[in-house]
Amino acid sequence: MTCAAGAPTVEGMRIVVDLNRCQNYGQCVYAAPEVFHFSGPESIEYDHAPDPGQEAAALRAAVACPMAAITLGEAAAL
Ligand code: SF4
Repeated sequence: MTCAAGAPTVEGMRIVVDLNRCQNYGQCVYAAPEVFHFSGPESIEYDHAPDPGQEAAALRAAVACPMAAITLGEAAAL
């Protein structure tokens, strides 16, 4: 598949964290350390487009998030 500009794109899981909801509890970091990371005492960083092998871990993180701040979906849907 290509985007409008003609560059190749990769379909797959995408992750969006609502940082207005996130309270930095870190459950996602423990559930999926290859995807979510602490980036200081009050923020997290994450891989917006993780490898397919990380999908189960990302799902565990979304379920574990006490603020329901993590949205998972296909690239075309988010
Ligand atoms: S588990 Fe949810 S609230 Fe906690 S750091 Fe991750 S996204 Fe934020």
